[in-house]
Amino acid sequence: MTLELDDLRVRTLGACRYDSPFAEMLASKRTSPHYVHEDDRVLVDDTVSVLLSRGVPIDQVPSLEAAGPRRKIYFDPDATSVGIVTCGGLCPGLNDVIRGIVQELTEHYHVAHIYGFRNGYAGLTRQHRDRVVELDLRAVADINNDGGTILGSSRGDQDPEEMVDTLVELGIDVLFVIGGDGSMRGAMKIVNTIDARGLDIAVIGVPKTIDNDLPFTDQSFGFQTAFAQATSFIASVFIESQAAENGVGIVKLMGRHSGFIACYAALSINDADFVLIPEVPFVLGGPSGVLRRVEDHVRRHGQVVIVVAEGAGQELLEQEGRTTDASGNTKLGDIGLFLKQKITDHLTEVGLPPTVRYLDPSYAIRSVAANAYDSVYCVRLAHAAVHAGMAGRTETVVVRWRRRFVHIPMSLITSHRNQVDPDGDLWMSVLEATGQPASFTD
Ligand code: ATP
Ligand code: MG
Repeated sequence: MTLELDDLRVRTLGACRYDSPFAEMLASKRTSPHYVHEDDRVLVDDTVSVLLSRGVPIDQVPSLEAAGPRRKIYFDPDATSVGIVTCGGLCPGLNDVIRGIVQELTEHYHVAHIYGFRNGYAGLTRQHRDRVVELDLRAVADINNDGGTILGSSRGDQDPEEMVDTLVELGIDVLFVIGGDGSMRGAMKIVNTIDARGLDIAVIGVPKTIDNDLPFTDQSFGFQTAFAQATSFIASVFIESQAAENGVGIVKLMGRHSGFIACYAALSINDADFVLIPEVPFVLGGPSGVLRRVEDHVRRHGQVVIVVAEGAGQELLEQEGRTTDASGNTKLGDIGLFLKQKITDHLTEVGLPPTVRYLDPSYAIRSVAANAYDSVYCVRLAHAAVHAGMAGRTETVVVRWRRRFVHIPMSLITSHRNQVDPDGDLWMSVLEATGQPASFTD
């Protein structure tokens, strides 16, 4: 259907003359509302070729390469061998991605060999390369019913030269890396080594982060499953907090740098009274601090539920010599236990001795199988990755951006993090749903 501008004109009864009370409602929260500008419009067509066919001069506007099957491909399928590796922390959907890649490569491209490397990049080292497994349809049948990854995962530095030696030894033409920001940095080092040796090996990333902190990605796979799972833990502490005098429920959720899981889980269940995320700093003491706000809430309602992202309030924890994990990521202090202690002390001091229920369900969340929505998403990402690899793309990741599957250079996916905007509409929704103040610092 070809739409003309007139077809899209929305009727209005006339000029708008009254101030919206939204501003008043939010004034108490000391934040500005997110009005839509009357000139804001959303493109109907978001594909450059379609817009160009309408005569719109849009070819200089930044755009992304569409993912999907190409008429011509780079690798001869009969002579192509492929490797798959999963690295970093667990995330719902890893098995769906593995299965989708294997199915697409087997059923539609009929590639010669598909190898799975065991336990992350460690599986590409000299020491472990003999543990490689050949993957076929039977090996991946039903694996999507389980969480985790059938290939295993790991952290820790590996030598790119040694890993490329393994690729050469096995005759791998395309390596699929399913992993987070660290894994993509590792993949880029593998690409550098491939380039330095003049090899013809493609490296395609399927970026993973349960925290939803990937840029150029409208939602990362596994995220929806994760926050849905997280809601049941908020429900548990809510019930516990209601059943006790001065009941305090605290749930610590994943989110090292970005509080998306905390925000979505809290919005989903709507029983949280406070949501604390890394993007919004807070203080404990003083009239506007978290402790006084929690105290006020307990006085008024007899209970309180707090959802805290693991990366929130790190500046409050005295970090004597921060430690790192095997991959060099800084280990976070335990903000959940810290809050539990501080709130217990404070409420006891002010004559409201609490019953505190604290849950840290990270492993119970990240280890589950993907839900139906994420399974669909994963299998489509897997197909996109296979098409990209067979078409000879390299140092490329597949992502979904504005509901379209696209290719982007690997360096972009590690360039920055997607974070909750403290001035954006998501955080605004959290403030509206919880009733918490916009700031704990003034
Ligand atoms: P997540 O953080 O979501 O758990 P991740 O992929 O970021 O996933 P990491 O443990 O940081 O997890 O990294 C996975 C693998 O990538 C590890 O083997 C690690 O050594 C390697 N890696 C991480 N950062 C780099 C880097 N800068 N250069 C080379 N390899 C890296
Ligand atoms: Mg990481």
